[in-house]
Formats: sequence, C-alpha cells, structure tokens
Amino acid sequence: MKPIFAANWKMNLTAGETRAFCQRFFELAGEDLAAAADIWIAPPFLSISPLVSELARAGCAASVKVGAQNCHWLQQGAHTGEVSADMLVEQGVSFAIVGHSERRQFYGESNEAVALRARAAIAKGLSAVVCVGESAADYSSKRTEQVVLEQLRKSLAGITSTEAERLVIAYEPVWAIGTGLAATASIAQGVHQLIRRELELLVPGVAQKVPIIYGGSVNAGNIAEYCQETEINGALIGGASLDPSSYWSLIQSGRSAEK
Ligand code: PEP
Repeated sequence: MKPIFAANWKMNLTAGETRAFCQRFFELAGEDLAAAADIWIAPPFLSISPLVSELARAGCAASVKVGAQNCHWLQQGAHTGEVSADMLVEQGVSFAIVGHSERRQFYGESNEAVALRARAAIAKGLSAVVCVGESAADYSSKRTEQVVLEQLRKSLAGITSTEAERLVIAYEPVWAIGTGLAATASIAQGVHQLIRRELELLVPGVAQKVPIIYGGSVNAGNIAEYCQETEINGALIGGASLDPSSYWSLIQSGRSAEK
C-alpha cells in the first residue's frame, strides 16, 4: 500500500498563511507534486476554500487531497459551531479526520459520536480518518491494547464492509502528539498489527485495504523508519506539516523509504 502523508494543521494557518504556504510548497515540490495523490492536508475550516483555490490555480488539484478536521453527523440544524459533510463536499473536501485525541480530550467527543461522524462522512463520499490512541497513563500501565481496541470497536460501531472502503485508521498515542516523544517504529508496528487483526473481525474482506497510519511527533528525520514497517501505511503529521519545507522533506524521505 502506498503511504499517505496526511497533514493536520489543527488551529494553525489563516487563509493568507495558507496561500503563502502553497506558494512555497509548490516552488519546492515542482513537478514532483503530481507524482501521487499521497499528500492529504486538513486545514482549519476557513482555510479549506483558499487551499482548494490555490491547488486549482496551480493545476495540482488531483495531487493533493483536502480534508476537514471534523464533520457532524447531521446534514443541517441547530448545532452551533458544527459543520456537515454536505458543506464540506461542496467546498471540495474529500476526507475528514474524526475522533482526534484533542477532540476527545478537550471537547468530550465520545466513541459513539466518533462513529456517527465517521459514518456520516463516508455516506457523503468522504474518506474518514478515525483516530485512536492511548494516554500516557494508559501506556505506562500497559493498557494500550485494551484502550485502543475498545476505541476502535466503538468508533467503528455499525460500519459495513462497503463503508470501510473509505476508512483510514490513525494510531496516535496521546503521549507522542506534539511532545517530540515519537513512539518507535516497532511500537507503532505492534499496535498497527493489533488494529489490523481487529479490522479483520470487524470488516472482513476489506481489512487489508484499510490504511493504518501513525501519528505522534513524526518529522522528516523519522518518517522513513515508519514507512519501512509493513503495517504502517503513512503518517498523520501535526507540527512538521506547518512549514512547507519540513513537510516537503518529510514527504520526500517517506516516499523514498523502501518496505
Ligand atoms: C496530530 O495532532 O495529529 C499530530 C500527530 O501532531 P504532531 O505531529 O505535532 O505530534
């Protein structure tokens, strides 16, 4: 499976900064940008439209997938602060991150809400990047397997094999996000194997096709190690995706890493 380099910009990069990012990123990438649709970028909602326009202007719309950092399960209604899948599709979005640990931890998003969000996104033709991962306390008390599998089962509740064709799982240990303490490639590979086995039970027949990406302090210096592991199909990247040159270096070293 070809690795995915998915950027999660979180609450960073205004519309103007997004345009400046694109200009520099296109200069760096040149012709190589078109090599594969392995570049996925999820900016803040208000930077989606500028990103889509810049990609179209540069003729790179097919090379970069634009995503959102969340997606509500209803089409419309009295849900202040939320955005629906229809609204995202209209803007040119093709994937939505759901269940990021920051949403779970700081905004109380439950596994049940994550499942609704994922299935609603998929129903509208988006890919859903469903995030799971244990806290530092869970990790030190050796509860990783239990926590990750429970999140996975509940966050994918009711998902069909057909829906799973549009699924990506992001394993993001909370202790590794934004800390510089990346999980080693072998730790991540072990958890990805667990996730793959569970997917075989949940969505048999499709499990092998679901990309499982790792997130947590990934950068240009360590991406190759992850891409060399058989069950790591790319990365979800926060901090290192905000600067065009560090993101482009990361993509280049990830692309050239051999399995
Ligand atoms: C993230 O928030 O999804 C993430 C992986 O962040 P960072 O790369 O900064 O650890």
